[in-house]
Amino acid sequence: MTSSPTAPLLNHTHDDISKATRAFLNAPPQLLIDGVMVDPRSGATMDVIDPGTGKKIAVAAVAGQADVDLAVAAARRAFDLRAPWRTMNALDRGRIIHRFARLLESHADELVELEVLDGGKLRHAAATVDIPLGVNHLDYFAGWTSKIEGNTIPVSVPDTMVRTEREPVGVVAQIVPWNYPLLMALWKVAPALAAGCTIILKPAENTPLTAIRLGQLALEAGLPAGVLNILTGYGAEAGEALVDHPGVDKIAFTGSTRVGKRIAARAASQVKRVTLELGGKSPNIVFADSPVDVAAAGAANAIFFNAGQACAAGSRLYIESRIFDDVIGELSSIASNLEIGHGLNPASTIGPVISSRQFDTVRNYIDGALAEGATVASGGSDLPTGVDQDGYYVRPTVLTDVNESMTAVREEIFGPVVVAQPFDDLEDIAQRANDSPYGLAAGIWTRDIGRANRLARMLQAGTVYINMYGATDAAAPFGGYKQSGYGRDMGHANLESYLETKSIWTNLAP
Ligand code: NAD
Repeated sequence: MTSSPTAPLLNHTHDDISKATRAFLNAPPQLLIDGVMVDPRSGATMDVIDPGTGKKIAVAAVAGQADVDLAVAAARRAFDLRAPWRTMNALDRGRIIHRFARLLESHADELVELEVLDGGKLRHAAATVDIPLGVNHLDYFAGWTSKIEGNTIPVSVPDTMVRTEREPVGVVAQIVPWNYPLLMALWKVAPALAAGCTIILKPAENTPLTAIRLGQLALEAGLPAGVLNILTGYGAEAGEALVDHPGVDKIAFTGSTRVGKRIAARAASQVKRVTLELGGKSPNIVFADSPVDVAAAGAANAIFFNAGQACAAGSRLYIESRIFDDVIGELSSIASNLEIGHGLNPASTIGPVISSRQFDTVRNYIDGALAEGATVASGGSDLPTGVDQDGYYVRPTVLTDVNESMTAVREEIFGPVVVAQPFDDLEDIAQRANDSPYGLAAGIWTRDIGRANRLARMLQAGTVYINMYGATDAAAPFGGYKQSGYGRDMGHANLESYLETKSIWTNLAP
């Protein structure tokens, strides 16, 4: 294994990436434990694949039980009441998080390249969405450190004062998915740091790179050793070991509903705190008073951004019957004009899906829908032409002639595939939109703001967008109803999930 910054990228064909990125890709596969990069005790490694080429670009460490034990022990030491992280005043904690944000900005180019190569993102999207939102996230939560306050409680017991203090929950295991590797990691890490917790972060096995880099930058920002440990590896191994570890006080998970259920069940045996941000099958509802071009562009963005690999993707499109054909025509034209290609190619407007497995899954959903009677308005499971045939490219696909009982309408596909149906009536569409085990997000497109807000109240979704879709902000709570999870990422609600409340009683009698 070489760590020379001038060594050629492993099997990589792109010449236009920076020296810093090359050096990182060629670094030895290690874990970040207790403030230092260390070889995995497991001795195991895994290949990191560029989804745009299907080729190996790096090698990452695979954490096993012994590595989890070391990381949890480091996080516990860092959480000791006498440890620097616990004795540090709140403003200084905030200053470190702000410095972390500045380092993110100054390393933006490198982080963008890693997100493109590791996660199959478009360079432009990573540069204008993932990195700036990540920076905002750190700055937003840095500001909270000095505003975590308790209360004085007027109890009815005579000569008694009761006050509350807020304390960090403790050692937190954070397990995140591959669709926004850097941003999902920061959604978790920023509030936990602000609250004063210590962390073991496990990125998805498909996208281990930026998490390690974030951990290194956090150290550079002045985070004490052991506060943020990064374990790359598999969910079934390192993930479950973290969930089961008695040294872990809370699990914050973003990922599939299937794994979320499993984590919640396992964590229950130790009454661990758990927050779950899970899957979605979000309805995007277009009324006939919407301009067709605006609605179609909104619908396209809601499903094709990040190649449809967004938990809140508007994957169920409902269009009022009168304009159904017009919107589908316009949406299909947008879909077929998207430039499919590698994220480093500036001409690309939609990238690959994450893995060969996801590639098969998405195309099987398309074929399954066709077998159930759906019609392809645009796209389909045929391979796109003019792209690297070893990459995992799926054509942006619009399916019509579908109904609520079809698998492609009920299940989360997590790819660039939208199922579209007509509707006629507000009550009916509210009922159909809510007819899903999920409840993460919803979209409403209409000029009638009263109607939009009435419908917004009827929808069972953690986030409702009116005449827009998919925005997130560090200050705005985001999370699910029903099987899309519990707890909220972002906003003050998120900080709360990393805090305990202690009531302290004092006898004031002379
Ligand atoms: P996944 O559930 O397969 O994996 C997510 C993470 O969990 C990975 O780090 C994985 O290694 C780990 N993991 C897997 N099995 C585990 C186990 N048994 N114990 C502990 N950890 C385990 O999900 P994915 O395919 O990586 O991500 C896609 C899913 O994430 C989609 O369902 C998507 O909707 C969801 N998601 C939700 C949000 C949200 O905010 N609600 C955001 C992004 C993604």
